[in-house]
Amino acid sequence: RFISLEGGEGAGKSTQVKRLAAFLRSRGLDVVETREPGGSPGAEAIRRLLLEGTDERWTPEGEALLFAAARADHVARTIRPALARGAWVLCDRFLDSSLAYQGGAGGLGAEAIRKLHAVGSGGFLPDRTLLMELLPAAAAERLALRDAEGSDRIGGRGETYHAGVASAFAALADAEPDRFRRIDASGSAEQVTQRLIRAIEDLL
Ligand code: C5P
Repeated sequence: RFISLEGGEGAGKSTQVKRLAAFLRSRGLDVVETREPGGSPGAEAIRRLLLEGTDERWTPEGEALLFAAARADHVARTIRPALARGAWVLCDRFLDSSLAYQGGAGGLGAEAIRKLHAVGSGGFLPDRTLLMELLPAAAAERLALRDAEGSDRIGGRGETYHAGVASAFAALADAEPDRFRRIDASGSAEQVTQRLIRAIEDLL
């Protein structure tokens, strides 16, 4: 099974990938935890190109192509081989981040992003996408905590941009209710993990 976690910064995706992986392992399953951009050697090299420098380094088109190239490598080299041996793959961000960031907030449109995904990765989609939703104020609070702990987060884009990302994610989820589950990401880590488990239980 291939599960992606999506949502804005500060929603708790990386924490919950670990917690959900631990739950699945406790059920005796083989689990691969991975993330975007990155997750394979080629894609990690592209990640460095994307994350170093300023937000203005790439044009929106160039950025979308780099994300699609990284995803193509990640799918071919990491995700498909893991699924083929029967593992579960939990991925921190996938195509829907490109649809929300580069396509929605960045202005390229969903159709262009889906075309790149069709070429790069054959249109490959997760079995389930967990959209973690948190009010902007709560996300900002979590990010402030994380930054105080010295994380290497890139950021600095404005509030309007992040609101655009959140509404793009919500629209994607509502358009594909079979694949998506919208998850309330507020409360304790344990509460959120329980919500996520309920949202994948039918796949177990
Ligand atoms: O939350 P995470 O650490 O995964 O985010 C990494 C950064 O990359 C965030 O600033 C996010 O806005 C950005 N990003 C993006 N387009 C994507 C995926 C992530 O702009 N497709």
